[in-house]
Amino acid sequence: MIIMAGVWPGSAQNRADLTEKEVLRVHEKSLTIDTHCDTPMNMLKRNFDVGRRNNTGKVDLPRMKEGGLDAMFFAIFISQQARTETNTRSAYDLAHEMIDTTVAVIGRYGDLAGIARNAEDALIMEKSGRRAIYLGLENGFPLGKELSRVEEFYRKGIRYITLCHSYHNDICDSSSDRAKPEHNGLSHFGRLVIMEMNRLGMIIDVSHISDKSFFDVISISLAPVIASHSSVRALARHQRNMSDDMIRALARNGGVIQICLLDEYIRDPDVNNERYRLEREMREKYDAVKDTLSEAGLAAFRKEWTEMREKYPKDLPSVADYVDHIDHVVSLVGINHVGIGSDFDGGGGLAGCNDVSEFPNITRELLKRGYSENDIAKIWGGNFFRVFRKVESIAAKISSKV
Ligand SMILES: [Zn+2]
Repeated sequence: MIIMAGVWPGSAQNRADLTEKEVLRVHEKSLTIDTHCDTPMNMLKRNFDVGRRNNTGKVDLPRMKEGGLDAMFFAIFISQQARTETNTRSAYDLAHEMIDTTVAVIGRYGDLAGIARNAEDALIMEKSGRRAIYLGLENGFPLGKELSRVEEFYRKGIRYITLCHSYHNDICDSSSDRAKPEHNGLSHFGRLVIMEMNRLGMIIDVSHISDKSFFDVISISLAPVIASHSSVRALARHQRNMSDDMIRALARNGGVIQICLLDEYIRDPDVNNERYRLEREMREKYDAVKDTLSEAGLAAFRKEWTEMREKYPKDLPSVADYVDHIDHVVSLVGINHVGIGSDFDGGGGLAGCNDVSEFPNITRELLKRGYSENDIAKIWGGNFFRVFRKVESIAAKISSKV
């Protein structure tokens, strides 16, 4: 049953009296989780130390503490390459390397953080003042076509899989691939992956997948699903965002959309500006050669991309623009199906919330708009952890039957 928002949060009492102390009190009281950052990529670099406050990147353990963030999904991000045997093998090896590095590095800062495996762990770690680091796999490409690898990655600590990234893979069609759909949604192998994830108690992440793939997932998953970092298409037309129909279906499934802080998912870009034109040009150039690119060629692309971005900085949307997306989901399906997934270190960052230390600014905006403490606790983690526990309990039921 969908609860229509009879009590519109915008009908705020006057919050002109809102103090910093009040914002921090409410923020600290919530068990907070951000379900998506790409920080493990930084952790592979020698000059980046997640245990210290860095000048680069948007996430590290000290800044998580400053921002009152109790838990975070560190995504093991694997970019999609042509699906040859060699590429699949390297994707699989790289996923293992990134997991091993992340676990080892977090292990060195045991007083500040720990690797979390169950929904329960975040609460336990919060009580001891440590950050809970969960692992997600962004892109099912490293699975190849081997179903047994789902359990293998589960045993290594992976708790969600984002089924694909920007291009179609063997699991499903992507929302961003310009090629025509390959499977018309989920493939046969993709269906087996969904069933296996349900059995193991692994969360299914529908961010990046095509609309048809999404509806296929919803129709067969026995457990609620998440979009770990997606926003609202009614407010920004990007194909990575979710339509109102998708959000309604997600709510009926009991799942949650974790609103992403990436500028183009929050506000439609100004298509007339130079930066937008250059980005499009470079993407087209990349798409044309990506399957034949050497490591050096890829590095050159990355360098050119970074330099262009530095030369033409973006006019970023604000925290208020961001909270409009939360408002939209609440007005559509109620308070129980929305949360926060930054995509920090993967493109996320807004004016007023450009790294993990600035998260209380979202809480301030929610309070200003009249959201209650209880609502805010749901947005910051209550909704996500409800889904996580449900995924775990469904898996326990499935295994008790076999
Ligand atoms: Zn992503």
